[in-house]
Amino acid sequence: MEAPCMNKLKQKEFTLASLTDLTSSSSSPVVATFSCVDEVTELRFQESESADSFSFDLSSAQLFKLGALQLVCVCDSSNSTKENSFSRGVVIKFRDEKESKDFCDSFEEWTKDAVTKGSCLPNGTVSYSSSKFDNKIEAASAKMYFHYYGQLLHQQNMLQDYVRTGTYHAAVMENRSDFSGRVVVDVGAGSGILSMFAALAGAKHVYAVEASEMADYARKLIAGNPLLAERITVIKGKIEDVELPEKADVLISEPMGTLLVNERMLETYVIARDRFLSPNGKMFPTVGRIHMAPFADEFLFIEMANKALFWQQQNYYGVDLTPLYGSAHQGYFSQPVVDAFDPRLLVAPSMFHVIDFTKMKEEQFYEIDVPLKFTASVCTRVHGLACWFDVLFDGSTVQRWFTTAPGAPTTHWYQIRCVLLQPIHVMAGQEITGRLHLVAHSAQSYTINLTLSAKMSGPGANQGGILQTSSCKLDLKEPYYRMSQPQVYPVAQEPPAQAQDLQIQSDDLEEVELLQQNANAQL
Ligand code: SAH
Repeated sequence: MEAPCMNKLKQKEFTLASLTDLTSSSSSPVVATFSCVDEVTELRFQESESADSFSFDLSSAQLFKLGALQLVCVCDSSNSTKENSFSRGVVIKFRDEKESKDFCDSFEEWTKDAVTKGSCLPNGTVSYSSSKFDNKIEAASAKMYFHYYGQLLHQQNMLQDYVRTGTYHAAVMENRSDFSGRVVVDVGAGSGILSMFAALAGAKHVYAVEASEMADYARKLIAGNPLLAERITVIKGKIEDVELPEKADVLISEPMGTLLVNERMLETYVIARDRFLSPNGKMFPTVGRIHMAPFADEFLFIEMANKALFWQQQNYYGVDLTPLYGSAHQGYFSQPVVDAFDPRLLVAPSMFHVIDFTKMKEEQFYEIDVPLKFTASVCTRVHGLACWFDVLFDGSTVQRWFTTAPGAPTTHWYQIRCVLLQPIHVMAGQEITGRLHLVAHSAQSYTINLTLSAKMSGPGANQGGILQTSSCKLDLKEPYYRMSQPQVYPVAQEPPAQAQDLQIQSDDLEEVELLQQNANAQL
């Protein structure tokens, strides 16, 4: 079936003073037309005195300003094969500034809505090749990501995190009034479990949007629950691309990754809000918080430093490995550590950074900057920053928090620790300041920049200033899975856990496997 062109813009024409193809030197007056032809939004250049014309597919076109009257437009060549792909560029000159500006405005409008041919999804929705998702996420990362979530075993892992699933169930059931008779969108429905919770709570209709192959399993599972099935529609596609027939009263989603923001699915959640939620609609969850506290863990620090010792060998089958020691050491310390730790390792009361899903703009997730300030409770060596998150379901009846804090029942997110290359020494009462700077990258994760400094406090502080500063840069996409069995924390009198207690057992951990697979995909 031919999909209608979703673009609502009217064809627009400009008369250019000249056009120079970057691959040739001829230039002549040209008419440039923005239009939608065969479902493809294009910019066609037609020489006024000849039949010569060519077009740029607006889904891949980019515009650069050379001056008030001059632009360069570049796009991927439509003729070339993937293996042999060249870009084509033209220099555009305008007769006056107004035309130049109008052209730029039209270009922006048309590229925003650019549609690629053949992107009709089986359920009749249309995917936009210039969707927000495709533009910012590497295709290889997205492919691994949705492949992962397309497998039942990984959905099962999430379903078997009873702290997680049980809290969602409670939050929905305790707040039936928010769901009863309402239209709900399940953002990233996976197996469809949250859609079914919403239907059980009396939702009038639920749209379960899922981009991976899991959408087919969700259909099957929902069909097997006939009382719910008549009120649930599964839509296979990305939230960024699909169209829904009506606005939602409620969004439900489980978009949280390690450190809350990993996987960059919170951006999808707020895009769903902007695209589908009615004004004053509810979001489950509503708010998230990243919690942070400095920690001391001599055992972990030594364990990490020891890993690089392999590269200290000067005679490895006759080969000197030491030239790579520094890089290996740095490499290990660029991995955030994921495990469940004893909260007594924290050396200062924690602080938190709020992310309000109802207000946060998508772009605000691209860079998250958190100034840090703690007061050490003990005299110790600080080895880094421990982080975890919680989310609030702000229901009309009950406000329920779901936490991944150390010491709380362990979830498949565990906690995350950023270990400094160089620990800092603090005294009880001493102020620890710093910055946690997260920068999103196109592999659906973040670069973490952490700085911690110990400041003198009390009498004489002004003379001392900052005593020590230590920084590190980590990739949230490349964690060190330091998994043990869910830990029984030793009671105060017992000796600390022994090394052999820390068994690696990562094969049944959703987050761990996802990150590992994505990491492998990057190799
Ligand atoms: N809601 C389910 C699954 C949560 S995991 C549950 O709570 O058990 C997140 C799901 O969102 C995955 O199945 C993933 O494929 C899907 N997802 C992630 N980004 C998406 C996007 N942009 N559009 C649609 N689905 C997405």
